[in-house]
Amino acid sequence: MQNFKHVSKNTKKKLTFMIIPNSTGKVIEFTIPHWILTSSLSLIALLVVGMVVSSSSLYYKSSQLNIVQETVSALKEENQYKTEEIAILNHRSIEIEEQLASLNELRDQVLDKVGLESSQYLKGMELKEPFFIVSRSNQRSSSIGNYEDQNEEEDMDYLKLLIENQKATMDQLLEDVEQQLQHLEALPNLTPAPGRISSPFGYRISPINNRREFHSGMDIANSTNTDIVAAGSGVVTYSGYNGGYGRMVVISHGDGYSSVYAHNTRNLVEVGQRVKEGEVIAKMGSTGRSTGPHVHFEVRLNGEPIDPMGLLKD
Ligand SMILES: [Zn+2]
Repeated sequence: MQNFKHVSKNTKKKLTFMIIPNSTGKVIEFTIPHWILTSSLSLIALLVVGMVVSSSSLYYKSSQLNIVQETVSALKEENQYKTEEIAILNHRSIEIEEQLASLNELRDQVLDKVGLESSQYLKGMELKEPFFIVSRSNQRSSSIGNYEDQNEEEDMDYLKLLIENQKATMDQLLEDVEQQLQHLEALPNLTPAPGRISSPFGYRISPINNRREFHSGMDIANSTNTDIVAAGSGVVTYSGYNGGYGRMVVISHGDGYSSVYAHNTRNLVEVGQRVKEGEVIAKMGSTGRSTGPHVHFEVRLNGEPIDPMGLLKD
């Protein structure tokens, strides 16, 4: 009894396991203290909790890693896209710069042809910062991922501004060139009649009285009734008979220039009439103080006769 009590008292602290085989055989019985079981179970529970915690943290980490990898590949893709885009933009900006340069070249050719200075057009039209866009784009392509489209827009705005400037200056240029062309057309620089230069501008021995005198124009001799044309566009300010000059036409060309055609047999224009360069204005003759059919062609600048040879195109 004492022994049983001891056992039952002990059963509170110990567990007995019995393994009973189906067939006849010896029953295996073993006893372990209760605390081993509880601590084993606690240990297992702890292990399970630990595994769950660590695996979930691993899962979290790997999912984080996935997100990072995805972000990196997305950034790489974006970087690639941006690099290509920048290459295209660079190419385009170089093209535009080349076009602007060729426009400037064209402008210089036009200015040269009409005898205008190109320096006054340089301000608005030249590239202030050549290859500005390219260098800025290159700077950006060295930093990864974090682009601002604003910069590209700024570049495009800059190019747009350049082109607008170019257009405005071209419009001004066109206006100036038209004026210059009018001026050139007005300038009395066309030989007014075919023929032989019988007497040039300057001091000469007079064919009339053999005395040294100043010849205020050039004489072109040809047969009577040879066409005399306007040396430049302008307005007829005189058409009539004028003493020694005989029958005479005067054309005013503006900018202080006028031209005189004298000794005509017939005048074909009237005062106030607009004439174009090359238009027939009179017929050659020998009226006034003259020894034979010729045109006395005189060019005056601000009223003073100048040598027409300095102006004539041919
Ligand atoms: Zn003369």
